[in-house]
Amino acid sequence: MVAGNWKMHKNFQEGTDLIQEILDLLEKHDLDHTTLVLGTPFIHLKKASRMLKGLKNAGVAAQNCHWEDQGAFTGEIAAPMIHSTGAGWVIIGHSERREYFGETHEQLRKKAESVIRHQLGLIFCIGETLAVRESGQHFEWVKRQLTESLFQLPAAALANVVLAYEPVWAIGTGKTATAAQAQEMHAFLRRLLSDQYGPDIAAQVPILYGGSCKPSNARELFAQPDVDGGLIGGASLVAHDFVAILRSFA
Ligand code: PEP
Repeated sequence: MVAGNWKMHKNFQEGTDLIQEILDLLEKHDLDHTTLVLGTPFIHLKKASRMLKGLKNAGVAAQNCHWEDQGAFTGEIAAPMIHSTGAGWVIIGHSERREYFGETHEQLRKKAESVIRHQLGLIFCIGETLAVRESGQHFEWVKRQLTESLFQLPAAALANVVLAYEPVWAIGTGKTATAAQAQEMHAFLRRLLSDQYGPDIAAQVPILYGGSCKPSNARELFAQPDVDGGLIGGASLVAHDFVAILRSFA
């Protein structure tokens, strides 16, 4: 899977133009073995879903949702609302949501449950800061993120879960984890999944790498046995780069 995270970029027309550019570049076989997901701001969900309709292995993701289905939560968007646009995915737990909006393990647990309850796919982000990595606590850190917010889900839900390992020190910094660092962490995450849900489920959950992934480094990252794709920020805003990253699997 290659998923774009547009973050807070692109007004309505710009977003439509970007999707059209991506569609114009895509060739049919590009999606034979790779799933493409566009994580857009809420305003694009419906249009993006319509534009991608009919393409196999392509979908649209929201970048956040509230944990309640409805209510007096001014400014928030609920999972059933996202579902009603035709979007099929929600990104939960991005480090920018954790850092700038103070999202807690407990809130993320409730958000993840809501996403699953409404039959949406969950792209759940985890990852450590530079300080945590330098202190050697990165494995414990991501383990806690999973145990506190994700491992309450029943095994059946895991068919709709994608993990995204995004070291915070690599997001938007131009500093990519080495392929060996990514593989080491992904293998660890796979083991945690296996301990919790068994080896069959662990083998089926895609684990994406995110953090300054670009056409120039995607191939090496994706070649690692436990790296099943990427969550792409900056490069997902440039149609050529995004499609080139998608083709890195070929
Ligand atoms: C992201 O925001 O999820 C991300 C990986 O960003 P970038 O690719 O720009 O580092």
